[in-house]
Amino acid sequence: MTEWWDLPVYGLSQQEKSQLLLARLNRLTALHHKGCDAYARVLKSFGWGEADDYAALPYLAARLFKLSRWQSVPQEEVFKVLTSSGTTGAPSQIVLDRETAALQSKVLVRILQDFIGKQRLPMLLIEQPTLIEQRSGFSARGAGALGLSFLGRDHTYALDEQMRPNWPVIEAFCDKYAKQPVLLFGFTFMVWQCLLEPLRQRGMSLPLIQGVLFHSGGWKKLQHLAVDNAAFKQACRDTLGLSRVHNFYGMVEQVGSVFVECEQGHLHAPLFSDLLVRDPLTHAVSQPGDIGLLQVLSAIPQSYPGHSLLTEDLGRILGTDDCPCGRQGHYFEVLGRQRGAEVRGCSDTFQ
Ligand SMILES: [Zn+2]
Repeated sequence: MTEWWDLPVYGLSQQEKSQLLLARLNRLTALHHKGCDAYARVLKSFGWGEADDYAALPYLAARLFKLSRWQSVPQEEVFKVLTSSGTTGAPSQIVLDRETAALQSKVLVRILQDFIGKQRLPMLLIEQPTLIEQRSGFSARGAGALGLSFLGRDHTYALDEQMRPNWPVIEAFCDKYAKQPVLLFGFTFMVWQCLLEPLRQRGMSLPLIQGVLFHSGGWKKLQHLAVDNAAFKQACRDTLGLSRVHNFYGMVEQVGSVFVECEQGHLHAPLFSDLLVRDPLTHAVSQPGDIGLLQVLSAIPQSYPGHSLLTEDLGRILGTDDCPCGRQGHYFEVLGRQRGAEVRGCSDTFQ
């Protein structure tokens, strides 16, 4: 992928980007065909091969990673196995070799640097300090925080072991870095439940006016509390002082796919990944603007056949190459889970 690192993350037109990505995805299909017998059988039974466009790419349902372990590298090359803790059913198991793990980190850094610049900012993680130290049972939540931690310095954990705000630590961070650029990271539900709500209950606010928050993990739990993206952003502004808040969409099953929300509130496909939308019943590719199931594409998975996955998330493409923020390529929104889909215990399953 050497040629990719000199290219702008959001600067290629959809046409240029899709040519580059399609060629890479076809190479990955061939690689996994060779390395993973189960995947080869899927390709054969559906008559899938090299694709001329995104629509013709083979795809696996993301939930298949809960049912069995898909792997395209010999066991001795397995570097780590990511798991998503499930509230129901088995967790997904995602097998990474050293190179895929390195690519995943590199891509994450490249994408987020587009939003925050190259300097390493002081970083407040809305997490427990032990999360990352628990190396055994490497959870997606831990991996997410660990991947992002490369972007920051002076990593500070805002929560204690019981998931309560660690007030002395938070206050010390704010004293040290108030009114400076800082980076905050957390899962959406945890940011709400473990930081924004406790602050509100105490009638407190933090002075992080130059901070940038990245958060992810789904809105389902917050919908029960009638909190949508706009209300979440407003609460971040009121209690943390933040004006820059970026939701992002991604899933443990597909490493490298990180779709970050821009200043206009649109999720953008970066250089390394893309998406298409399929009719929930027929799985035919939907017309632009129509709501359907999201199929996500990623250039990164080399160790398991996860480069093209059909999710259980509903969404729609909002436009191509013309977002007012200036980023090129597809932009889209996610509208929740498909009805009747198994409840996914994703990384925000903290109760
Ligand atoms: Zn945009």
